Amino acid sequence: MRILIKGGRLVNEGRVFDGNIIIEDGNVIEITKQQPEASFDETIDASGCYVLPGVIDDHVHFREPGLTAKADIDSESCAAAAGGVTSYFDMPNCVPQTTTIEALEEKYELAAKKSHVNYAFFYGATNDNVDTFSKLDAHRIPGVKLFMGSSTGNMLVDRQETLERIFKNCKMPLMAHCEDTDIINRNMAKAQEAWGEDPPVSLHAMIRSEEACLTSTQKAVALAKKYGTQLHVAHISTAEELELFSACRDTVATKITAEACVGHLFFTQLDQERLGSRIKVNPSIKTPVDQFMLREALTDGRISVVGTDHAPHLLEQKEGGCAKAASGMPMIQFSLVTMLELVDQRVLSIDRMVELMSHNPARLFGVEHRGFLRPDYRADIVIVRPKSPWKVTKETILSKCGWSPMEGHEYQWKVERTLCNGQTVYANGIVNADILGEAITFNHS
Ligand SMILES: [Zn+2]
Repeated sequence: MRILIKGGRLVNEGRVFDGNIIIEDGNVIEITKQQPEASFDETIDASGCYVLPGVIDDHVHFREPGLTAKADIDSESCAAAAGGVTSYFDMPNCVPQTTTIEALEEKYELAAKKSHVNYAFFYGATNDNVDTFSKLDAHRIPGVKLFMGSSTGNMLVDRQETLERIFKNCKMPLMAHCEDTDIINRNMAKAQEAWGEDPPVSLHAMIRSEEACLTSTQKAVALAKKYGTQLHVAHISTAEELELFSACRDTVATKITAEACVGHLFFTQLDQERLGSRIKVNPSIKTPVDQFMLREALTDGRISVVGTDHAPHLLEQKEGGCAKAASGMPMIQFSLVTMLELVDQRVLSIDRMVELMSHNPARLFGVEHRGFLRPDYRADIVIVRPKSPWKVTKETILSKCGWSPMEGHEYQWKVERTLCNGQTVYANGIVNADILGEAITFNHS
């Protein structure tokens, strides 16, 4: 099967240029300036569009197994395909938790049958599974996920001695959720004294405070420095934490890196009035100043990766205040178009966006043969059209939970087509659910 993508504007490795891509057997085999004369089984006309490497989302919660009323691998990988995301790394706080080799294997078996884009699964650290790290197949998993603050799923690791052992023994990327539980509990107790059992959601950022984030992130960075661990801190949400990361755009040379999530880059506390608990996430969405500083850090290199923390809940589970409403929101279907909106607003350049969403996740986690438009790499490609307005409605949402904080939002960019391993998995509003993704492989050198 030979495919030609012609006439598009390619964005790859810091360059934006007009070019054509030739695909054979699921791989890119050539990128040419001149349109080739040869005949092809399929020709895709990308005139007027931008052609990017497929997005690699390093942070999703697809809820399978065990929490499939909220979401599952089938539904959420369809949403990913529609959003231009061709690869994802899924987190371990499902049921059972992915904290044993058996649970990890089960997820790979499920995904092989149900995932419509490429997949990989994090292994979860607990207070007592450090001894199993050495048995993990590093070629198949992106890394170990550590909750250094109680988030949903009860996987909190907070014993100092255990943390030291985890940082010492993790020989692959360690991705950490950093929020200090003691500070959060203290703030919550104070709020409950004043407001009762379920304080209003407007207090979420006061309870899950800047101090809680900074204290925990400081601790993680100090441990990583002590043991030489490759640390990737998830969803940075405050200006203060950014000071802990170096403004270095070489993600391979930097052992301590940070992820920003689309929700924290797009929303601020001011949106809470309109959207309430729909945008309640952990860590909380903070002030416009924090958002401004996060956006600045996208370009100077203190942020290395943009992910989604795609975390669907049923709408009824999002009801209530700080104690009752579930934290997390679906985002994967709209992450790329949201970031393209920030490109239009000149927050960052389109080539830097591609670096943050495709190249750097590949570099940082050692993804093999993906994340770039390069000969001999898998043909994971997204074609996006600018100046093509459309509105998010309930009908456009593919996530199983059926709602989105972006409902009613009008985008100017549209994902026109997504190719995964050279096959069109999404085009013109339709997912081809006959297509299955591949297990991603890694080289953690
Ligand atoms: Zn998460």
